[in-house]
Amino acid sequence: MEKRKLKLSIVIPLLNEAESLPELHAWLKKVLDENGFDYEILFIDDGSTDASWEVIKSLYEQDQRIRAFRFRRNYGKSQALHLGFKEASGDVVITMDADLQDNPEEIPEMVRMITDEGYDMISCWKKHRKDPVLKKNLPSKVFNWAARKVSGIYLHDFNCGLKAYRKEVVKNIRLYGEMHRFIPFLVKQAGFSEIGEKPVKHQARKYGYTKFGSDRFVKGVLDLITLWFLMKFSRRPMYLFGSLGLIMFLIGFVAVSVILSIKAYKLYHNIPTHLVTDRPWFYIALTAIILGVQFFLAGFLGELFLQQHKRDGDYAVVDRVG
Ligand code: UDP
Ligand code: MG
Repeated sequence: MEKRKLKLSIVIPLLNEAESLPELHAWLKKVLDENGFDYEILFIDDGSTDASWEVIKSLYEQDQRIRAFRFRRNYGKSQALHLGFKEASGDVVITMDADLQDNPEEIPEMVRMITDEGYDMISCWKKHRKDPVLKKNLPSKVFNWAARKVSGIYLHDFNCGLKAYRKEVVKNIRLYGEMHRFIPFLVKQAGFSEIGEKPVKHQARKYGYTKFGSDRFVKGVLDLITLWFLMKFSRRPMYLFGSLGLIMFLIGFVAVSVILSIKAYKLYHNIPTHLVTDRPWFYIALTAIILGVQFFLAGFLGELFLQQHKRDGDYAVVDRVG
């Protein structure tokens, strides 16, 4: 009996990439057909304002293995990937950028690493990056170094768009906010530890322009802080805020006790004394107690929020084909 063909889902988030799409589709189709894969191509139009959606619809006329979704507005790459992961039905799920910077020829080897070498996820590494040095390469090196330190995952390149996943992996991670930069981390958190890396060729952008401005660096650093926080305290916000609150509260409590004891002692022995409200320590103690209570509240709210809130995708789909 012939073995069932391996099915791939190629998930492609895109924002205003009309010029690249036909070329990307033809290239993908060539590689996937040559390698005998069964496949679907999922285009997620993240609110393009150019002709991207029309181009996708006309590509669908020629190729029904395309499935495409159009967001009402631009929700960001993470949300587009979220929908792609939800819809993907393949055994192996590939994500790639639409701008022809990721080379489809890398796909068969990445798939092989997953099916034959037991990896849960393969992330690509743009070893010789074809992007402007100061605008991208340097910030990205610093960012990746920090991400490695924080996450403990030794990847050279966290942000590369070309990645391959075993199906269970994408069905078990929840991508939210702008977390597409940290998917390897989410994967590790979900309990999949075989995360591999494949050096790939990288091409300069052919059409259009990058959709991420220079604020990406600042955002990246903020995301990294969130990441650190999540890693340490996401399960139990109370551990962080509760202990801060406890420390503050104790400082305040001890200070107030000392002030009041001194006062009581002096009154008892008829020693002349100031009003407690004239002492700076009184206000420091008061502030510490108030801060302590605030931290506690933050901890409680965090815990409540975690219990109530099931994070799901945050987008509206206005049109789809396939
Ligand atoms: N993209 C998207 N939504 C956005 C920004 C980007 O779907 O809000 C897509 C974009 O069209 C491309 C991929 O994400 O397919 C990577 O974006 P880009 O090439 O601009 O990033 P860079 O390669 O410069 O890091
Ligand atoms: Mg790009």
